[in-house]
Amino acid sequence: MDFTTELKNYLKARYPLILIKSSEEDRLTNDLKKVAKELKHRFITWSIASGLQHDGQSLDEASLELKRALDICEALAKKDEPILFVFYDLVPLISGQGASPIYQRRIKEFALNIRTKGYRCNCIIVSYNADINSSVETEITMLDYPLPTRKDVEKQISEFVMQYQSEKGIKIDSSKKTLQALTSAALGLTYSEIENCLSRALVTDKSLDIEDVKSIVNEKKQIIRKSGILEYVENKLSLDDVGGLSVLKRWLELRGHSFSEEAKDFGLNPPKGVLLVGIPGCGKSLTAKCIASAWSMPLLKLDMGKVFGRYVGDSEANIRQALKTAEAIAPCVLWIDEIEKGLASGGDSGTSSRVFGNLLSWMQDKTSPVFIFATANNIRNLPPELLRKGRFDEIFFVDLPDDEERKKILEIHINKTGRKSDSFDLDKLVRLSGESNFGDEVRLAGAELEAWVKDSLLEAYSRKVSGEKESDLSMKDFEDTIKRFVPMAKMRQEDFKELREWANENAVSASATNKNAKAETQTSAGRKIDF
Ligand code: ATP
Repeated sequence: MDFTTELKNYLKARYPLILIKSSEEDRLTNDLKKVAKELKHRFITWSIASGLQHDGQSLDEASLELKRALDICEALAKKDEPILFVFYDLVPLISGQGASPIYQRRIKEFALNIRTKGYRCNCIIVSYNADINSSVETEITMLDYPLPTRKDVEKQISEFVMQYQSEKGIKIDSSKKTLQALTSAALGLTYSEIENCLSRALVTDKSLDIEDVKSIVNEKKQIIRKSGILEYVENKLSLDDVGGLSVLKRWLELRGHSFSEEAKDFGLNPPKGVLLVGIPGCGKSLTAKCIASAWSMPLLKLDMGKVFGRYVGDSEANIRQALKTAEAIAPCVLWIDEIEKGLASGGDSGTSSRVFGNLLSWMQDKTSPVFIFATANNIRNLPPELLRKGRFDEIFFVDLPDDEERKKILEIHINKTGRKSDSFDLDKLVRLSGESNFGDEVRLAGAELEAWVKDSLLEAYSRKVSGEKESDLSMKDFEDTIKRFVPMAKMRQEDFKELREWANENAVSASATNKNAKAETQTSAGRKIDF
């Protein structure tokens, strides 16, 4: 349901106090005016600087003071006239350190009277801050104001272009391709943020063209980072940078086509997302980055730990805000890294489960093309609701890489050093990094293989610096450095067994050749340890 329809329902149902959290007063006020007009309600605003106003005219000089203003509102409401009252600076007066008990009482009384005395009015509180930690909270209904849609942004950009196109000395590329690219770059920003970005781009070199997409994306990155919960991650990796995990890669590649309009017409819904559970350092985060760039989609990283704010209600507002941003930027990939950590860090379990409830119901109901890429290392904190069918399209288990996979990962990282991987005895490197060297069940993880290549390169360079003849990276460097390695799998064998046992029941293997887990875990008792 869109925002105005939802709001109209609340107004018609006579919800007395509705708090709309938004920093976009202008755009929201325009929408509220339209709604008031459609419902044939008078539109009256109150702010701390102007008091009560109707059509830009002050209703009463004395209404600067809130109690007096509320008395006037009530007197108007008694006349049975339908009115939409909009309050702008109310929150600090009824909540927090500057709150006044008189104002709290008066607004509660007014809300109660709207419900019980048949007044045909509603009060809307517009605020950037939704932390109501006072007795008024029980009377308030919270409503989220969505960020501008693609259509809104398109309109705003074309209006901006029209405004400046004929200015002397200004060059604007108004081709469809450029306008589309600017629109995509600006999705997820508010009107004023978009206007700031466009104006700055125009002022910088007196032109607006495809080159400015980059600077808008950069500004967007900063703005999103400032929210403290989401991070806009950029990279140029491709799925070829991930060694192994062929089942997962194939699954993702297939779904990459399902976001288009053509796929929609064909009857396909965009995929919801995946949960990757697995051993640390085996490529879960790497795959998140690669899939976003392979699909040419923005990647938003959600830090669950930061969702939990200081005030009651804050955490839920935070998660809703983050999801709203993701929806506005969609199609995009929303990467929820170590989802289980966020669930454990909520402090009180009530807040954690409410935040989590918000996330789950959003995942269940979402129709926007936001692909969730959730990762987890610790299965013990994962609530069963998360694993229920229908939440994720698939749950994958990422194990330590097998022989074939280690070979591929070594190739990738040796090639990254600027050397040719086929000039090394890769089969020997595979043996050295696997069970024949370390013993049963112990193989190096992807991150350890990368570290092994880097350590060996360092070894070679130190020989070069000390003037040795054979100074490039050689097999000997690999053989020497591996002796110093204590593989993670050796230290955490029990933990990994438990993880495999869980995966056997609950997940699909991300690798084609990883068939061992079932047989291994069936015989293991497995201590219950957190990873
Ligand atoms: P964690 O749960 O600890 O975050 P992870 O499974 O997300 O671990 P990554 O962060 O993706 O692991 O891996 C760390 C680094 O190790 C990667 O950036 C990459 O350089 C290397 N690496 C790990 N797995 C692979 C792989 N399958 N192919 C290529 N490189 C890999």
